[in-house]
Amino acid sequence: MSSKQRDTASQRAAKNIKYLCDFSEKILIVDDEQLHLHSLRELMNQNGHEVETTNSGSQAIEKLKTNKFGLLLLDLNMNEISGDEVMDFISENNINTTIIVVSGESSFEAAENALRHGAYDFIRKPYAIDNLLNSVNNAIKKRHLEYENLAMQTKLHESEKLHRYIVNKSPDIVYMLDTEGRFTFINKRIETLLGYTKREIIGKHYSELIHEEDQEKARYTFNERRAGTRSSTNLEIRLKCKHNHTARCFETRLLPIEINAVGVYNPGRDKNDQDKFIGTYGIARDITDRVEAEEIIRFQAYHDMLTRLPNRTLLKDRLNQAISHTKRNNTKLAIMFLDLDRFKVVNDTLGHMIGDQLLQAVSTRLKKCLREGDTLARIGGDEFTLLLPEIHTRKDSEHIADKIIHALKKPFCIDDHEFFVSTSIGIAHYPDDGTTMETLIKHADIAMYHVKDNGKDGYKFYADNMNELYSRHLSLENDMRRALQNDQFVIYYQPQINVETNEVFAMEALIRWQHPERGLISPTEFIALAEETGLIQPIGDWVLRNACAELKRWRNAGLTSVRVAINLSSCQLEQDNIVDTIFELLRSHDIPGDMLEIEITENVLMKDIENGIFKLNQLSDYGIKIAIDDFGTGYSSLNYLKKLPIDTLKIDRSFIHDMQQNDEDSSIIKAIIAMAKGLNLNIISEGVETEEQLEQLREWRCKNMQGFLFSRPMTDDDAIELLLNPGQYSNKKGSVRNSVSFL
Ligand code: C2E
Ligand code: MG
Ligand code: MG
Repeated sequence: MSSKQRDTASQRAAKNIKYLCDFSEKILIVDDEQLHLHSLRELMNQNGHEVETTNSGSQAIEKLKTNKFGLLLLDLNMNEISGDEVMDFISENNINTTIIVVSGESSFEAAENALRHGAYDFIRKPYAIDNLLNSVNNAIKKRHLEYENLAMQTKLHESEKLHRYIVNKSPDIVYMLDTEGRFTFINKRIETLLGYTKREIIGKHYSELIHEEDQEKARYTFNERRAGTRSSTNLEIRLKCKHNHTARCFETRLLPIEINAVGVYNPGRDKNDQDKFIGTYGIARDITDRVEAEEIIRFQAYHDMLTRLPNRTLLKDRLNQAISHTKRNNTKLAIMFLDLDRFKVVNDTLGHMIGDQLLQAVSTRLKKCLREGDTLARIGGDEFTLLLPEIHTRKDSEHIADKIIHALKKPFCIDDHEFFVSTSIGIAHYPDDGTTMETLIKHADIAMYHVKDNGKDGYKFYADNMNELYSRHLSLENDMRRALQNDQFVIYYQPQINVETNEVFAMEALIRWQHPERGLISPTEFIALAEETGLIQPIGDWVLRNACAELKRWRNAGLTSVRVAINLSSCQLEQDNIVDTIFELLRSHDIPGDMLEIEITENVLMKDIENGIFKLNQLSDYGIKIAIDDFGTGYSSLNYLKKLPIDTLKIDRSFIHDMQQNDEDSSIIKAIIAMAKGLNLNIISEGVETEEQLEQLREWRCKNMQGFLFSRPMTDDDAIELLLNPGQYSNKKGSVRNSVSFL
């Protein structure tokens, strides 16, 4: 609607209201002849009208200025101001009153002139009473009708204004279609939601607004013909936004809406006359927020939120589909199970934030190795599964596994840390290694365990004989839970020797598991599992208790200057009562603090550094020695070393093992020795196996050593026998170097 039209409408409304307010039934009689004036008043009064009189035009004008009259009985010929002039005043001032001229003028012109001036009737004097009363009654009746009509119009106008306001302010699109499906009405919401003006829409067919894929759905909803309960409710379709209009619309420029529409009918005239369909009335609600929320929820249900990769549920879904497809087409597919090697160390030492970032970086690299159609899913902490639907031969899988291993070779840089990540990959093929989803995943997992057991960092295809090893791994956990109660753990002791004096100054306590069926199991096979399951705490306490008891036995036998070295895992250092437990053990066995050495790995220190330092200081204050085990393999930082109460660095045996072949390892050993000297720390070389290694280390002024060259770890009875009778023992067992003497 143009502003001009709008003005006219509102002006008209204002006029109407004024008219309604001015409405009066009072009659003003204007005549300069007293007699006439009198008789007219009498006549009007007798007929029940309220009357005022005046005998001049000027007084009439004055009265009209301040009073409201429904009817004027007006004489024409008066002194000064004539009836015509009064009529002019009335019309110029828009005064709402009905004029009946009552005049002695008999000419036709006078009558015509009066009517032209706006008079309702012209009554000639002397008038017939009936005539005059008739005219007055008709005029008043007409005014009443006009009043009622106007009152109705005004009411309608107000109510329409209100409805228009409500419709236009509606958060929903409100529309009407004609019988052909063309818009006859649309509210303003279309402008903000879709970017069209109302004018662009009116007359258009509704289908022009509907997304192509939803046309079929819209056909029976948008232009709904049914009425009542059968009409369309809450149907979701997508509308097209106007080109370049971005508000609220998705990138595809589609607006999801929920539609409620109903057919509109004109009722038939009678029972036999059918209602006539005149169009559709509909309301379309913007449901962008809901659709977005639903999409997020759906995404979360099927994806891992850290890496945004598909999760286990989505993987299973896709794998099921891929299996059906592969079956139909008689082709193959592969499942790869990936587990990052030693990821736990990163998480434990540098915290979950860094661990999470590393996982994200790894998943980004892995994604780059994939082809379209492959699915990479994260199904657990550091576990990924890869579904490769387009695999024809083992070579194809090999190629992708190689690609993945190669892609992870380059170091990852996160927060100033450099990480070298490797992964163990197990591969299972459909249909050779299984035909169901469950078996394929299980077999890929089993193959992955085999890679882990064989030095990690590589891939293996599933083979039937792998099953046995896998079930061994699973049953290990259950067995371990019973091992403590059944007293199946034992401690072996390995001497630490000063090669300058040939003295055993300490024995390292090393746990073993005497398994009823499998025999002696090495700690390398179960310590990590014990840490994972939390069993390390009772097992660790058991070691502390028994090693201290053993030390007490040595001391009781007079061996008072030999120390015991006990390995403490990171989980144990986290135990709240660990310091008290150790103090209590030493006190109850009457052992001086410096007769106990605690071996921790560098990684232990990085986890909760403040708490770790605090506990280690408490232990050190008591005299207990602290050694860093496997030094050189973890995230060593000189900074930490300076802050910690460390007594000893144990050079990891991998450096010793390779030092003769590898210059780099030699340099590392020399550097560690020099650093230890600088920090005034003791040094022990672990894993000394050959005379050459011994000589070389001696040359580099490393005097403390431990290794098979001197002695393998031995039972407690052998250990005390060796300590008490070193010469005898060495002769008998032949496993301790003859040159070594024992205290
Ligand atoms: P570790 O503390 O570094 O212990 C030294 C390991 O090196 C022992 O393996 C020992 O048998 C082995 N070893 C010693 N000399 C030689 C040698 O000349 N050549 C070779 N190849 N190996 C040598 P073991 O007993 O299998 O223990 C392995 C690891 O298990 C230990 O490494 C330690 O980290 C952990 N461990 C052992 N006992 C305990 C324990 O009671 N508690 C905790 N938390 N960890 C333990
Ligand atoms: Mg150790
Ligand atoms: Mg070690």
